[in-house]
Amino acid sequence: MEIKTVGVIGAGQMGNGIAHVCALAGYDVRLSDVSEHTLEQALRNIERNLARQVSKDTISVDMAQATMQRINASTDKHALSDIDMVIEAATENRDVKETIFKDICAVVPDHAILATNTSSISITRLASTTDRPERFIGLHFMNPVPLMNLVEIIRGLATNQATYDAAIGFTNRLGKTTTNAEDYPAFIVNRVLIPMINEAIYALYEGVGTVESIDTAMRLGANHPMGPLALADFIGLDTCLSIMQVLHDGLADTKYRPCPLLVKYVEAGWTGKKVERGFYDYRGEHPVPTR
Ligand code: NAD
Repeated sequence: MEIKTVGVIGAGQMGNGIAHVCALAGYDVRLSDVSEHTLEQALRNIERNLARQVSKDTISVDMAQATMQRINASTDKHALSDIDMVIEAATENRDVKETIFKDICAVVPDHAILATNTSSISITRLASTTDRPERFIGLHFMNPVPLMNLVEIIRGLATNQATYDAAIGFTNRLGKTTTNAEDYPAFIVNRVLIPMINEAIYALYEGVGTVESIDTAMRLGANHPMGPLALADFIGLDTCLSIMQVLHDGLADTKYRPCPLLVKYVEAGWTGKKVERGFYDYRGEHPVPTR
């Protein structure tokens, strides 16, 4: 089956990046969100990121303009009625995602493939809430999507070979490298990465180091490009917490308990860079640690 039109649900950090790379690769994109304001912000972000690519000579001005023209943004789910594949990139919450999939099954064409960008939630479970578990797959993009090369591909128990082949063809056309992960909590990247971040937050919570000393230690001591607390802010502390909860519930092992300090930041609404405050305060010229 040929994929020409792609729906992207959720226009936050990941959704706007996914819309960007799909449109740049020549797909028509229907970008959808519950918030008009988020959609407007997403289009502005995409425009700015394309302009950056033009300034680095990675794409031409014409390509940037054509890319913008291929993206239609709407809060109306009926705009998804002509898509061949949908990629759900809404908030990392099982109820939110299950409701979205139930709702859109009535709108999208019968042949459409359903994909989710979830970081941790069971693909098999999300698939079972739809009318087409055999055409359901996990496509886990990395943040920021235009710059990061990997897409983890996760098949649910019922995912058929045609859907897997179409997903591989699609991600290859985006110029991404794929890796296969089995459908277990948080797959591969986040099974390893998020407990490391949670441990860094424990180190902060227990006073082993300050925000700056923990980040500097891991940047210079482990050669990580970003410290774990800066990375947590970049991912979103709500998303990190949600992934730890999925690991804790799904693997029933206390080693995955979310750090109470992470819970406290999320309860405060200090969910990281997207709201300008997390382990760092981003409202000034330079990020300043909040502890
Ligand atoms: P975000 O908070 O930036 O964006 C989520 C968006 O979903 C918001 O714009 C919100 O308005 C929208 N939304 C909520 N309910 C909706 C609904 N019912 N219908 C349509 N839109 C709805 O979050 P994000 O960081 O973009 O994460 C989105 C997904 O991508 C999550 O599943 C997350 O786990 C996954 N992911 C995140 C990262 C990361 O580093 N942040 C990396 C890979 C995957």
